[in-house]
Amino acid sequence: MARFPQIPPEAVLKEDLLRTGIAFDESALTDNLDGTVKPKSYFIFSFDQKPLAELGEAAKRRPPEEIALTGGPYELRRTIVSVRVNPDSPYRVARDADTGALRLTLESRDVADIALPPMPEYYRHTLANGKTVMETAPTIQWGYLIYLTVLRLCQYFGAHEECGFCDINHNWRQHKREGRPYTGIKPVEDVLEALALVDRYDTAKASKAYTLTGGSVTSTVDGLAEADFYGRYAQAIEERFPNRWIGKVVAQALPRADAQRFKDYGITIYHPNYEVWDKRLFSIISPGKERYVGREEWHHRILDAAEVFGPRYVIPNFVAGVEMAKPFGFATTDEAIASTTEGLDYFMGHGITPRFTTWCAEPTTPLGRDNPDGAPLEYHIRLLEAYREALERHGLKPPPGYGVAGAGNAVFSVSSFMDTLVPEDVPAEEAVPA
Ligand code: SF4
Repeated sequence: MARFPQIPPEAVLKEDLLRTGIAFDESALTDNLDGTVKPKSYFIFSFDQKPLAELGEAAKRRPPEEIALTGGPYELRRTIVSVRVNPDSPYRVARDADTGALRLTLESRDVADIALPPMPEYYRHTLANGKTVMETAPTIQWGYLIYLTVLRLCQYFGAHEECGFCDINHNWRQHKREGRPYTGIKPVEDVLEALALVDRYDTAKASKAYTLTGGSVTSTVDGLAEADFYGRYAQAIEERFPNRWIGKVVAQALPRADAQRFKDYGITIYHPNYEVWDKRLFSIISPGKERYVGREEWHHRILDAAEVFGPRYVIPNFVAGVEMAKPFGFATTDEAIASTTEGLDYFMGHGITPRFTTWCAEPTTPLGRDNPDGAPLEYHIRLLEAYREALERHGLKPPPGYGVAGAGNAVFSVSSFMDTLVPEDVPAEEAVPA
């Protein structure tokens, strides 16, 4: 924090928590769906730094989905952080035995007060077939985003195709093994029924967007290729709840005609994630994407999609930190930041605003296994700075569909890029749907 006074201290701490994970005292766990705190839904990847079988009590009583930091010695503005469990982390959340208040400590020193997300009313209701809303249509980002992982598996399969940082397929296996409800393909009717419960009980209208996502489809699922498989959910949602939420899809970079199909199905924002910029690292880290599409074609398709959706509504993600993963990654932070900035300039030069999530070194992935500590904190802080400078250089605003920017406002919980930007930069009409 002292070395980077131009970056909000909230963002520095948030990045460190995301890359390091948090140890949870039993007093800070939830009572799953029976309590007053919203539990972690495992909405797509595990986002834990130990396998479920090694989480102890946190495998039985889930940790909260997110935490909100405030106050403490740094007088933090409210900062929402996605929960990544790591029993070995120096960061610990526990309840003060005297006051009952939850505190975040770093090696036993006080860092922040902690608030937990309240159980949303819609989680207390189930679908007619007994499935839970938490499994079918969980919300994250403090209730802003409904996360619809409608396909829990990726057809990039095995070491030669799966992205090196991704545990989607492993996460599916571990939840099945533990006997947790975990649906491979979510029926459209289930999604609509769960959304009806969210719509009915989210009376404060905290939910503003939904994301349709899951694994890549290289052949077909339910007889449908990728654009139609994901698109049919959007079509059904938009027919039933027109303009209730901003519709987003995370999918492969598909040919222009398929991008148009997404748009025609009712999607507003398209995330054809490019994961890592560097050419050599892309082929190593995302071998399936390289094999089925290829890096240059992936990038061309992103530009094509910008003509379909408008450049501001194509928001490709990259996974911040993987370009420093051993043994193939950049050896220095300088090289990694220079490479990633080159990618930002490429897309921003076309009016496209990428965004990023902070890499969680999940232990069952090749990159997580070789890099249990993830990337250096300095890298993550310098990336926040580089990203903000690139936006300014290209005269762009933060991407739409992420709520209001700025420390104390941001709800995007898996990276602090939104916490780092200036609040006025996101006009209300782009932060919420019409
Ligand atoms: S495309 Fe890569 S990141 Fe996405 S689900 Fe498949 S393996 Fe994971």
